Amino acid sequence: MSQVATPPAPERPLPTPTRESQPYWDGLREGRFMLQHCAACGKVRHYPRPVCPHCFSMESEWREASRDGVIHSWTVCHHPFNFFFKQMTPYIVALVDMEAGVRVNAPLRGIAEEDLRIGTRVRMAFEPATRDVTLPCFEPA
Ligand SMILES: [Zn+2]
Repeated sequence: MSQVATPPAPERPLPTPTRESQPYWDGLREGRFMLQHCAACGKVRHYPRPVCPHCFSMESEWREASRDGVIHSWTVCHHPFNFFFKQMTPYIVALVDMEAGVRVNAPLRGIAEEDLRIGTRVRMAFEPATRDVTLPCFEPA
């Protein structure tokens, strides 16, 4: 009698923190939305990077930002880009204009597709993916 091998469950793809982005990921794990700011001109750098695109300074500092924002756009994912997400389809990914002046895309929870509107107020929430990695998502504000 032969057995059919069960394929291994797909692994969730996870971000790889870098030296520049580690404070961002640490913040999410602590339930805080941290943004990198240029220490010379004060402008926000998001995504985190070593050089300011405005004044080319390599100095930066981290500040906690508001978790509030409004929906800029969204997509309903019926075909997952990675097999891990197949079990979650359909799911919504929102592009959100944060009060801090940056855009963040993340899964949107708690709002039905037919209720989605541009400009709807949402708030960043946090979903632990592993012991070390927490990912952002959005919920109704
Ligand atoms: Zn700068």
